[in-house]
Amino acid sequence: APWDFPDYDDHEGVHLFRDQASGLTAVIAIHSTALGPAAGGTRFWHYPNRADAITDALRLSRGMSYKNAMAGLPMGGGKGVILADPQRTKTPEMLAAFGRAVDSLGGRYVTAEDVGMSDADMVEIRKQTMHVAGLPVGSDAAGGDPGPSTSLGVFLGVKAAIRRAMKRDDIAGVHVAIQGVGSVGGTLARRLAAEGAKLTLADVDAARAERLAAELGAVTVAAGDIARVEADVFSPCALGAILDETSIPLLSAPIVAGAANNQLATKEDGARLHARGVLYAPDYVINGGGIINVGLEYLGQGDRADVEERIGHIPGRLEQIWDESAATGDPAAEVADRIARRLIGRV
Ligand code: NAD
Repeated sequence: APWDFPDYDDHEGVHLFRDQASGLTAVIAIHSTALGPAAGGTRFWHYPNRADAITDALRLSRGMSYKNAMAGLPMGGGKGVILADPQRTKTPEMLAAFGRAVDSLGGRYVTAEDVGMSDADMVEIRKQTMHVAGLPVGSDAAGGDPGPSTSLGVFLGVKAAIRRAMKRDDIAGVHVAIQGVGSVGGTLARRLAAEGAKLTLADVDAARAERLAAELGAVTVAAGDIARVEADVFSPCALGAILDETSIPLLSAPIVAGAANNQLATKEDGARLHARGVLYAPDYVINGGGIINVGLEYLGQGDRADVEERIGHIPGRLEQIWDESAATGDPAAEVADRIARRLIGRV
């Protein structure tokens, strides 16, 4: 049963949904509503078995609690998972059934898009429930594509790390190696280049990296080599789990600060980075700009200026983490979790 799962115990609840007519099987995990409605996107994914889907929902919902708390949002953490078949068949009927499932929780859970879901899917879900964010919006309102907001927060976080580790405000000539130049990494590269940073870029889509490098006067390396580049900052903006016992010893940069979710392969990798003296910006803190954008959209509070004002607090939050890490000797990743648990009233 779900309550036998090791990740269940610090959750408020886990809800299992089934709609036979549409074929929907879904999980909604609610980690915490201490600060507000449990907010977190819905993942549409094929899992080898149902237990994996429940574990994923539980872990991701806890992650959302921490992320929303650290972003200063009046929102708790939750996550939806729709179990897809191997062909990932998605129908309007299935989305409607999921919308009714979300609605049945009466606003305790608010959904948005995640892996496998689009803003068009959110429009379908919105037909059944108002507890959804991530809908297409006008250009001045909060909401819409979170990429630019995420990138702004990461940019400010990278600068905060440079300020702390290198004791300088101006980033001209500071060398940043960016892994993945998609929505977030690409915009980050542009912002850094505009202030004179020296860039090395890599992407599995090599042509994409080449194009951007030509535009910004940057250089590129093969995707497999980017973590080893002798740079001041390594900025992971592609995949999760890229910091592990193999990659960390090969890192050359004294700062790791980037957008990717779940950068640490295991909890021990936070300690490994710390032991190597790397200044690490915990991923869910530095990449909180996107959730601030979506959160304010849902709350109906604010425009782009408010989103940017809140994103402006990300460097201060990172400083708090690094200060506590320096004072206690604990890895930044652990300190971040501890501060987040404090914020949601957990010890
Ligand atoms: P994206 O798909 O637009 O870009 C990712 C880029 O990484 C692509 O260009 C892809 O080709 C490249 N890539 C994939 N594997 C790679 C590898 N092994 N080496 C080098 N490049 C590789 O995605 P995005 O929206 O820019 O998000 C990037 C990361 O940031 C993801 O981990 C995402 O979960 C995280 N994130 C994004 C947001 C957001 O608002 N978009 C918010 C929070 C976190």
